[in-house]
Amino acid sequence: RAPRRCSVCCKSTWAQLREICRAERLRCAALGVTRRNLGEFEVEYLCDYKRVGGEEFYLVKWRGYPDSANSWEPRKNLRCRGLLKQLHQDLARAPGGPVRPGPRGLPPRASSYLVQKAEQRQALRRWEQHLNNTRSHRGRIAVENEVDLHGPPRDFVYINEYKVGAGVQLTPVAVGCECSDCLAEAAGGCCPGASHNKFAYNEAGQVRIRAGLPIYECNSRCRCGSDCPNRVVQKGIRYDLCIFRTGNGRGWGVRTLERIRKNSFVMEYVGEIITSEEAERRGQVYDRQGATYLFDLDYVEDVYTVDAAHYGNISHFVNHSCDPNLQVYNVFIENLDERLPRIALFATRPIRAGEELTFDYNMHESTRMDSNFGLAGGGLSSSPRSRGRIECKCGAAACRKYLF
Ligand SMILES: [Zn+2]
Ligand SMILES: [Zn+2]
Ligand SMILES: [Zn+2]
Ligand SMILES: [Zn+2]
Repeated sequence: RAPRRCSVCCKSTWAQLREICRAERLRCAALGVTRRNLGEFEVEYLCDYKRVGGEEFYLVKWRGYPDSANSWEPRKNLRCRGLLKQLHQDLARAPGGPVRPGPRGLPPRASSYLVQKAEQRQALRRWEQHLNNTRSHRGRIAVENEVDLHGPPRDFVYINEYKVGAGVQLTPVAVGCECSDCLAEAAGGCCPGASHNKFAYNEAGQVRIRAGLPIYECNSRCRCGSDCPNRVVQKGIRYDLCIFRTGNGRGWGVRTLERIRKNSFVMEYVGEIITSEEAERRGQVYDRQGATYLFDLDYVEDVYTVDAAHYGNISHFVNHSCDPNLQVYNVFIENLDERLPRIALFATRPIRAGEELTFDYNMHESTRMDSNFGLAGGGLSSSPRSRGRIECKCGAAACRKYLF
């Protein structure tokens, strides 16, 4: 039994530890020595391919064994059909065009691409697991890159709610509502009524007020329970979503794996809340891409900014579109300070499973083009801070060509 809270540096390499496990017939999940491959050999991935006298051979990386133990195996010995298919798919997409195997294997650039691709897949799977262990919401997160060799982003920490930065204080709400049924029999207009605002949702949790109007949800002081129809954003992401690599130079993107109904809550835009002065300073340090993660909270006045560059949730990966399917709303739940709304993204139209999710990074522009401009109670003007000109690649018919 391992002693608790005690760790020592290990002087052996992973390969040596695996050897020890094998010799002692010990299983270790972290080292990849499992019951399955302790007795028999398990293919981790295939890293090369050749044809000798009409027969196909594959160079196998064995799970739990070092690279030096890789061995050529005839096709008939291999039962890993998925990995074989993967190898041929990867080869078809390898940079430099299609390759033909010689009697000694593939050209080095092709075999090294296969190994990089296999290692990338493992890194993305580990990151996917990490994201799913970190999320507090119901919706699962998948990760996929069938486009290039980019691995998980460095310098990104998944968070589920705002991280409060220096000089920022959230005041917890002091009062809640006393309704017997917040939707049907709201006492004094329920929580939104307390600030003369409208009840935001229908019985299915779809937003029914126009963008620009604030959403006041029920809070921890309210008498109602967790099934109250005025608790939507606080329940978090419920759809299964996928972070994927886009094929046209827009980096990562997010698509939904499930159908989303119009006006449904999809996700919150979270990050670190900082003062606008701090945002100004960081904006000068960030490159132009980094600057697009700064989202000014200018519902009433421009005092705070959400910085999702290094701390964020899945919204960090959602791309801009000039014709988006998500719309921003300002939401107040446990904190009623109007300078610190939460930013929630709702579907503007029905979204099919597999469709990419987008929102408009530059609401100022779109409101200017919208006849609502001037009517909007400030809410529509929330947008990431503009700095420099970034060309837009959203591909929408009504594309404005520049993000800022
Ligand atoms: Zn109520
Ligand atoms: Zn309430
Ligand atoms: Zn309620
Ligand atoms: Zn565009």
